[in-house]
Amino acid sequence: DLHKHFPVGHKGIWGEPAGYLHAVDGVSFAVERGQSLGLVGESGCGKSTTARAVVGLHPATSGSIRYEGNELVGLSRRRMLPYRRKMQMIFQDPYASLDPRQTVGSILTEPLRIHRTVKPRQRRLRALALLDAVGLNPRQVNRYPHEFSGGQRQRIGIARALALEPDLIICDEPVSALDVSIQAQILNLLADLQERFGLAYLFIAHDLAVVRHLCQRVAVMYLGRIVEIADRDELFENPRHPYTKALLSAIPVADPVVERARRRIVLEGDVPSPFNPPSGCSFHPRCHLRGEVEGERCSTEQPHLTALAGAGRREASCHLVQLEEARVPVGG
Ligand code: SF4
Ligand code: MG
Repeated sequence: DLHKHFPVGHKGIWGEPAGYLHAVDGVSFAVERGQSLGLVGESGCGKSTTARAVVGLHPATSGSIRYEGNELVGLSRRRMLPYRRKMQMIFQDPYASLDPRQTVGSILTEPLRIHRTVKPRQRRLRALALLDAVGLNPRQVNRYPHEFSGGQRQRIGIARALALEPDLIICDEPVSALDVSIQAQILNLLADLQERFGLAYLFIAHDLAVVRHLCQRVAVMYLGRIVEIADRDELFENPRHPYTKALLSAIPVADPVVERARRRIVLEGDVPSPFNPPSGCSFHPRCHLRGEVEGERCSTEQPHLTALAGAGRREASCHLVQLEEARVPVGG
């Protein structure tokens, strides 16, 4: 039930904040060891804020973050340190997160120096092994970030995240800034590394297609909340929430016959401001199915995530989905 609110404005010069931006508004999920959870939604839905709260970059306003059962919310920096080692981050723009004045070798050994996990004499060897693990030539260890392409820089970012042998890597749109051809290479690399090192990923993307091959489970976020969470195949084959349906309908299909027959759901308007979220179901101003629910329910009553029948652990928050569930015959 993670919440992250940011104060905005203030009443008078030194007054209380005029309001709060509910960037993350009661989000719950679990990432299992060695598994991947995709967190998908349009920009501004709170997915990066969620990721940053998990690693302690933004302290949570309320709720709980547990690592193997240990509560992380409220830990001091010092007590958080061993967990920070186990949870690393990869960012969208590898260039912005790599110090241009440091060689790759120095970038990769820096976490080892800070956390003192590897003896000084062995650090350089570790840097070479890391470069090899991410498909870069270890001979490039003395080069600087600007001497690498965008895809190679993201490999350096991944190598740095691996340096401390984490269990969980939080990937915040790691391929969004890359060319499509390079995206696939980086996603394949992440999949290989996951298998080799038993990594878990919390993988953030604005595009469902990106999480399809990497994530066993997918959560769809809208305006600070999870609106649907399901195992990957369930979600892609039978999306239930209208927002998930719309996002999926935007992914082109390779088969031209299928592509032509498909109905593209066009979302009306932009994502509303999280300063002033819509009443009722926050998706209602853009929902193409709100007319299917009787009366004003969609605009007045907020739906809650509820478990759905059928395979896997699946939840959605939508009045229409709940009506459909109620219609499922017993035993059918
Ligand atoms: Fe659409 Fe209503 Fe479901 Fe919200 S609750 S997603 S408006 S049908
Ligand atoms: Mg973001």
